[in-house]
Amino acid sequence: MSVSTVSTAADRPVRAPLPVLGRDVTVPLVTGGEVVHAALDYAASAPALQRVWDDVAAYAPHYGSVHRGAGHLSRLSTDLFEDARRTVAEFLGCRLEGGGGRGEGDQVVFTRSTTDSLNLLAAALPDGCEVFVFETEHHAALLPWRNARVTCLDAPSSPRQAVETLERALADRHPHGPALVCVTGASNVTGELWPVRELAAAAHAHGARIVLDAAQLAPHRPVSVRELDVDWVALSGHKLYAPFGSGVLAGRADWLREAEPYLAGGGASRRVTRREDGTVDVEWHDGAARHEAGSPNVIGVHALASACRALTEAGFDTLAAREEQLIRTVRDGLADLPEVRFLSLFGDDAPRVGVLSFVVAGWDGSHFAAALSAEYGIGVRDGLFCAHPLVRGLLGGGPRDRGECGAPGTVPGEKALGAVRVSFGVGTPDEHVERFVRAVRELVRDGARWSYRTVDGRCVPDASR
Ligand code: PLP
Repeated sequence: MSVSTVSTAADRPVRAPLPVLGRDVTVPLVTGGEVVHAALDYAASAPALQRVWDDVAAYAPHYGSVHRGAGHLSRLSTDLFEDARRTVAEFLGCRLEGGGGRGEGDQVVFTRSTTDSLNLLAAALPDGCEVFVFETEHHAALLPWRNARVTCLDAPSSPRQAVETLERALADRHPHGPALVCVTGASNVTGELWPVRELAAAAHAHGARIVLDAAQLAPHRPVSVRELDVDWVALSGHKLYAPFGSGVLAGRADWLREAEPYLAGGGASRRVTRREDGTVDVEWHDGAARHEAGSPNVIGVHALASACRALTEAGFDTLAAREEQLIRTVRDGLADLPEVRFLSLFGDDAPRVGVLSFVVAGWDGSHFAAALSAEYGIGVRDGLFCAHPLVRGLLGGGPRDRGECGAPGTVPGEKALGAVRVSFGVGTPDEHVERFVRAVRELVRDGARWSYRTVDGRCVPDASR
């Protein structure tokens, strides 16, 4: 289904804590007419905050190279880039110079995304480092540790069990070698909050370090490196309402300083000479620049800093309280449907951010998501959400290969083929979530009103109907 028009829906008051782009975009319905698009896939990529867009637009005419030019706009852009570093450091509660008893402050390295940040850290692990991850992690946190010995821990059934599982695993490890724990702050599948502070304490008690994957946590809750006492935090701008290709790895400087530059090139090198024997000699920077080779993404970084400021000013307490209401609207609105089962590790009432995944008896997830889009103008995600071990476990066995969508699907009691995920945030008006609840109820009760078929692995409305 393609977006057909963009119009101003002046007759529709949109109530959301912070305005985002796309709030007036309409999409066609397969059953006729148009509707304002309900973007309920924030966990994949959140829309840009209006404020972020405005800040980017205000800066764009002044755009210039960073760390590279003598001209006025280059200097302005360099200042903006370094201001953004300070803003992000503050947003993430980074430890100041000499803080944390470590003798040096935290470093903010700008990357492309959480995936990029965790791969950067993986490339900076000291020799012999062991890595501990739960099998529940997003692939971005599960897979980068290719040069380390990785212990993949069983999915816990409570936050307490998570800490106990980690403690047991760390107690069994070689006590003197370097070790890293990588853990998510909020699951991209269940939205559940993980006991980060307790896991950090367990890691440190056993001489290990910890990196927090805050891709899903940072858009919903305050994240403080200092207060959580984690060694690093990684996040993505596009999930934090700043979709301009930037990400962050913030935290301890020592492993990063000792590692080879993540990318080799201009900006990472302080001095390059050609030796008499024809080889090249390089002296690398040892600050954040060591891992930021190439021309920096100043627009992306400026956008990220703008989002950090907007979220801080709006106040996470206010934002989280509103999000709780939306979660309740979904849970209460579907509570009496036995066909709908929410996925959860820690139990239905566990604290979570605005990310909920579910299966519907009798439906393949891709068929259900396609009907939500085509018949109600609601954008969600379906599948295994780049967390295959977790979702397979929660679905109760490996999902079979995808069948033909819309064909007689699974029946109640049968295993689902994939889940559906609904997620929201600061730009979500009540109406989007209410429409979602109504749509799920109608689809479960009456079935789809249209036929669907699978094209290139995706379920789509059947145009020939
Ligand atoms: N970690 C979690 C928990 C995520 O949900 C995601 C993306 O969905 C990532 C990491 C990877 O983020 P990115 O694709 O921005 O690198």
